[in-house]
Amino acid sequence: MCRFSSRSPWFGTSPLTGARAGRKTRGMTQRFTGSFTQQEPIPEAAIEAALAVLRHGRLHRYNTAPGETAETALLEQEFAAFTGARYCLAVASGGYALGCALRAVGVVPGDRVLTNAFTLAPVPGAIASVGAVPVFVGVTESLVIDLDDLALKADQADVLMLSHMRGHICDMDALMALCDARGITVIEDCAHTMGAAWNGMPSGRHGLVGCYSTQTYKHINSGEGGFLVTDDEAVAARAVMLSGSYMLYERHLAAPGPEVFEAIKYDTPNVSGRMDNLRAAILRPQLADLPAQARRWNALYQAMEAGLRDAPGLTLIDRPQQEAYVASSFQFLLLDWAAEAVQAVVAGCAARGVELKWFGTPEPTGFTSRYDSWRYAPSEPMPRSDRILQGLLDMRLPLTFSEADCAVISGIVREEVGKMV
Ligand SMILES: *Cc1c(COP(=O)(O)O)cnc(C)c1O
Repeated sequence: MCRFSSRSPWFGTSPLTGARAGRKTRGMTQRFTGSFTQQEPIPEAAIEAALAVLRHGRLHRYNTAPGETAETALLEQEFAAFTGARYCLAVASGGYALGCALRAVGVVPGDRVLTNAFTLAPVPGAIASVGAVPVFVGVTESLVIDLDDLALKADQADVLMLSHMRGHICDMDALMALCDARGITVIEDCAHTMGAAWNGMPSGRHGLVGCYSTQTYKHINSGEGGFLVTDDEAVAARAVMLSGSYMLYERHLAAPGPEVFEAIKYDTPNVSGRMDNLRAAILRPQLADLPAQARRWNALYQAMEAGLRDAPGLTLIDRPQQEAYVASSFQFLLLDWAAEAVQAVVAGCAARGVELKWFGTPEPTGFTSRYDSWRYAPSEPMPRSDRILQGLLDMRLPLTFSEADCAVISGIVREEVGKMV
């Protein structure tokens, strides 16, 4: 796998992927030719497990042969163990998990729900899907929720949907102390923190409910999919019923006992959003590999950090010691730069094969949008957050990259930023 148009002796071969890094020497301009959206293939063990499901044909999670335990039920049991949660439900998507969690904790139309101004569209979308109204809370230079702004807005809602956007975890001890004192229920959006932790506690386990995504660009890949975990038996039972369990909840291995369902089964609607056995079969081997994959992601992240450290004009994101991250993406700030100068860096990098996403564009593009582009949920202007978003650049770090690739990418970014300072 050669990402470069010419090979060069002074770049080695990655110990991880065998990818050869090099540079195009013509004009002394390095170009990167890897794909920022190319994930690794599905592991062979997962392909084998998927074929077994396809061969027997029982893809629906409640379609089991006598004595058989569905892949989906086994996956839930394994994910509960992975996070240390009592209960786990696998669902159709991360966004579904978020909406399901809101319903399960009792959010009703017209309620206000606090959430991050810096997050991805499915988060305010999940709030809107239950007829509730997002109240946006600002973002800090560390790319986490602004706890001062949260304290100011705490009396506006009983629920916080906290998004660990791009894997940055705020001081969860301080956040939980604040929310507990103000009687705020916390639902965590862990789309980018599966496998991460704060102060030794897995991400998704501080709040009442943790929600995860298994969509292709997240930490394990089933195309689409998600999880919800909780220790609360009533929330868990309502979530199982909501996901569309009919009256087959006894087939779950990571759900409360039937007596808990007896109390809620006539009053909980079926808002169908189950996971199926094919996706569960693909995910089980990937979940087992996640700690090793996390180490690889972090090696790429640290290679990017090393390549950009002390670059004039560029601010790296500080990562607190209590945070154990899984860095599947990389961010940096060009704080207080003129928009045209940021645009020039983005264009210069793009011309050399490095795709940067900029959160300062007035129009939402691709996956990038910001709180003021969600016009169904109007908000007060947040100048301090706008300053961060206007300087925020973001890139994926797929595991098809090597550390040598990251050295090339960071070199290009460093040069393009350097041209403007
Ligand atoms: C991807 C994502 C989601 C939703 O996950 P889907 O599985 O795509 O529905 C939620 N929050 C964040 C921050 C995400 O990046």
